[in-house]
Amino acid sequence: MHTVGVDLGGTNIGTVVLDDDDEVIGYAKRKTPTRGDHNRVVDVIVGGVHDAIDDAGLSVKKIDAVGVGTPGVVVDGTVGDASNVPGFQVRFSLGDLVSDLVDKPVRVVNDVTAGAVAEHRSGAGRGWNQVLCVFAGTGVGGGLILDGRVFEGAHGGAGEFGHQVIRQGGAVCPCGRRGCVEAYAGRQAMTLAAERHVASGGSTVLFDVMKKKGKSRPTSGVFSNALDLGDVFVADLIDDCISALAAGIATSVNLLDLEGVVLGGGLADKLGKPFRARVEAAMQPHLFFSPPKVELVSAALGDNGGAIGAALLSREVA
Ligand SMILES: [Zn+2]
Repeated sequence: MHTVGVDLGGTNIGTVVLDDDDEVIGYAKRKTPTRGDHNRVVDVIVGGVHDAIDDAGLSVKKIDAVGVGTPGVVVDGTVGDASNVPGFQVRFSLGDLVSDLVDKPVRVVNDVTAGAVAEHRSGAGRGWNQVLCVFAGTGVGGGLILDGRVFEGAHGGAGEFGHQVIRQGGAVCPCGRRGCVEAYAGRQAMTLAAERHVASGGSTVLFDVMKKKGKSRPTSGVFSNALDLGDVFVADLIDDCISALAAGIATSVNLLDLEGVVLGGGLADKLGKPFRARVEAAMQPHLFFSPPKVELVSAALGDNGGAIGAALLSREVA
């Protein structure tokens, strides 16, 4: 069986073709439209699907199903409430639109859930039945595997790791609420904090590094470089990010008695092993279990995880 998996991100749309052995045999990447309506995004998704099939040297006939991982809340093939993709705020039937254009069964899943499935089946979480995957990047997402299966909750909204409240009345989160993990550990929130710091006369090399690297916003790589340069303000931001992730992960472990936690996403990937080790150390005092039974490991699949997970999940509709 051959399946295609799409990972729709705010910046790029990554697409893979998987064979029976879960190997990636085709790959494509296109830019996510920044304006227009959802139909424009759907056209780019479908273009990427054909690119990846070409890259695999296959014909469309050989494809059994397509999986699409998307931001937002997914219910029965529809998606809505995704703030960073044009036209995805108002709920519509993404699955039907893609299926009509590619003439294959399509399964739509939350992008973070797809990433979690991939890490569980063929990445760092292999062999565990109770797993939380945390992806720290622009925002902070989470995906839950409970009893070996994806846990999506009563309304498809489970796993919102980034919006666990770790500090009542704390910093404002991009979601509009206060004190969420993401208010301290998401790159968007960290960037806003740096902008406020500079506006009030504080200093940081963050935005100089950003310009030197030719970026329009501080990427995870920019944060990592600024930290390496010894920037005190960025070091403080990273300290807060680590405490927030550690509190959120320990709280999840206390609630669910997990076997392991996979930590990935752009920020965690760029900051690497020392970052993971610091999160692991910082979560210990919050763990209720004695002795602590949980392992924290780095994600193994990088950028392709979401697309691989979407392809794996599409097998169920093939
Ligand atoms: Zn929030």
